[in-house]
Amino acid sequence: MINRIVRWADRQTLSTRLKWVSLATIASVTLAYTLLLIAIQVGFLTSSLLAQSQAQASVVSENLAAALVFEDHDGAAAILTALRVVPEVESATAYDMKQAAFAHFARTPGAPEAFLATPERPDYLLDWQAIRVFQPVWVEQQRVGTVVLRSSLASVYAKLGLNLALTVPLMLLAMAAAWAILSRLQIFVTAPINALSKVSQEISLRGDYSLRTRVSPSPDIGALATAFNGMLDRIEQRERDLEAEIGERKRIEARLDRLAHFDPVTKLHNRHFFNERLQTAISTAQQTRHSAVLMFVDLDNFKAVNDTLGHDIGDELLCLVARRLAIELRSDDVISRIGGDEFAILLENASDPEVGPRIAKKCLAALGEPISINGNEIHIGASIGMSMFPDHGTDIHALLKYADMAMYQAKTSGKNAYRIFTPSMQDEAKKRFTIDNNLRRALERDEFLLLYQPQIDPCSGEIVSVEALIRWHHPEAGMINPLDFIPIAEETGIIVPIGEWVLRQACHDLKCWQAQGYELGIAVNLSGRQLRDESFVGSVLAVLQETGIGPQSVELELTESMLMDAAPVIMERLHALRAQGIALAIDDFGTGYSSMSYLKNLPVGTLKIDRSFVSGLPDHAEDAAIVRAIIALAGSLQMEVVAEGIETLEQGQFLQTLGCKKFQGYFYGKPQSASQIGQLLAQRTRPSSAGLVQA
Ligand code: C2E
Ligand code: MG
Ligand code: MG
Repeated sequence: MINRIVRWADRQTLSTRLKWVSLATIASVTLAYTLLLIAIQVGFLTSSLLAQSQAQASVVSENLAAALVFEDHDGAAAILTALRVVPEVESATAYDMKQAAFAHFARTPGAPEAFLATPERPDYLLDWQAIRVFQPVWVEQQRVGTVVLRSSLASVYAKLGLNLALTVPLMLLAMAAAWAILSRLQIFVTAPINALSKVSQEISLRGDYSLRTRVSPSPDIGALATAFNGMLDRIEQRERDLEAEIGERKRIEARLDRLAHFDPVTKLHNRHFFNERLQTAISTAQQTRHSAVLMFVDLDNFKAVNDTLGHDIGDELLCLVARRLAIELRSDDVISRIGGDEFAILLENASDPEVGPRIAKKCLAALGEPISINGNEIHIGASIGMSMFPDHGTDIHALLKYADMAMYQAKTSGKNAYRIFTPSMQDEAKKRFTIDNNLRRALERDEFLLLYQPQIDPCSGEIVSVEALIRWHHPEAGMINPLDFIPIAEETGIIVPIGEWVLRQACHDLKCWQAQGYELGIAVNLSGRQLRDESFVGSVLAVLQETGIGPQSVELELTESMLMDAAPVIMERLHALRAQGIALAIDDFGTGYSSMSYLKNLPVGTLKIDRSFVSGLPDHAEDAAIVRAIIALAGSLQMEVVAEGIETLEQGQFLQTLGCKKFQGYFYGKPQSASQIGQLLAQRTRPSSAGLVQA
């Protein structure tokens, strides 16, 4: 029961509990007070009944004395019966000294009680029903009998009942009034607490920590409200701090996301994003059975621009390139910068096989136009490789690899072109990979050898110089031509030690010929990668010193593209070599579409006319015009000219009439081993050159 009450109370509001507690207190106090009153009243009524009974018993005992002495039963009975008028008296009995009932009166008929009184007994007996009063009957101080008067307590109970009948409704009324008053007054206690609770509820509902509760002047509730508000202050502050921290974290996350997906230079997406998009595009295309085109765009001359004009211009150039490419694309095509000077383009829903080539041509045309930055007119150009889904591959790695292979092909095929992936490119890539692996071991295994091609003085027919041309004697593949491995060696950087080996070997062979009394020079081809190596000049001089060759005997052949792209530091290296007495020549001159103006600032002494112009001589008018122009240009710049690729007597004669002073070509000698050159030198004159000399 108590448990039930406790459980019920637990579910009630504070104000209900307060009211019930107060009511219970009032009720118990009222009840205790009423009970006390009842007890007092019972005592008072009983004692007044006792006094009244004793007085009546005393009167009756005096009247009975004579009747007892004279044994007048009727008289005694009449006296006792007179008590009938007293409603409380239930019975009255007179006993003689033998304790026998002498006379008896009873309101309700019945035999008298046995005599109870003894001297030791009290003069009255009280129980729940009645009071018995024992009154001795005296005659001249001699006891002649006893009167026992029995008065009922019914009248006492009746009065009590009446009192209670009046008190209980009054009490209930008082309780009801108390409930009503409590209902009103409890607000004074519960209002501040309710206000607190309301604020807490609102806060938990709206999450608004700026709300505050009113502080009551009451010291304890006021202290509670103040503490509550203080707690809210701290929560609000923490909330603000947290919000600031979350805001900061979100900003950082957004930045990281940007960094993870965007290229800060061009503001395009980056490789990471592109790969994700490509993956999604492939999944979608697989479901919708659409095609997609992946393009790799690699800028052709970016490195040169970066080295010559600086990184700021390089960055600016990348932005402009990005913009030009983006203009050529539809809004739903994806373009990203995936590397230093590499862009990737994704064309989705490209079911028409012409879409890829068309866009590639447009991109090439856009990048073919010169770009002007800070007064510099930059010719950038690009090589584009393309792979298609699902024709070439169905996974992202294969498509990326194939587009890269196609791009490599475009690059090696002379740049500023696009190529679509073909399976044969994979074989070439494999070959390249094998070559690269093998190149690394070729040096250690001594698989390289040098052939020398004579350079002839047309007047004397003597060999004035030889050009060192490398060959790779591969144990399985046999003799490999330089054009098949030099570009790969350049890419991987292994050309640097190979180039050093070539120079050392060439100097070593030259030293042998010089030791035999022949005065000739040597021409050695260089690659751009060697020039970019900062220890290059030092290593050339070290080889010369090591082999005992004078710098005047050495000519290094550079290409136009190496010189056009040359950064200031490379120019410094060339000047340093020239200052040491080493001659520099421009190989394959005329093929580099370069402006002539750069020539005058170069420390170059020789132009080697490319054999593509020589092959058309003497009949091809344009070739003749070009060769003539090159010879005239060299003359005006005080440079020497070497004609290479001379295969016929007519070509040689024609070039001689134009004033060319050095000839090289199959007609005068193919590239051959050092010992064969030794034999040629020993002969001093060769049949093929003899004819020319005579002519
Ligand atoms: P290059 O420096 O222009 O060399 C001339 C190339 O033309 C040689 O091819 C030579 O064999 C060939 N040639 C010479 N005369 C004639 C001719 O009358 N007719 C025809 N059809 N061809 C002729 P090779 O030896 O295959 O070398 C190709 C290129 O490889 C060279 O062109 C050079 O750029 C590069 N190279 C060769 N050796 C080295 C080297 O040691 N280092 C570097 N970096 N490049 C080298
Ligand atoms: Mg050469
Ligand atoms: Mg050449």
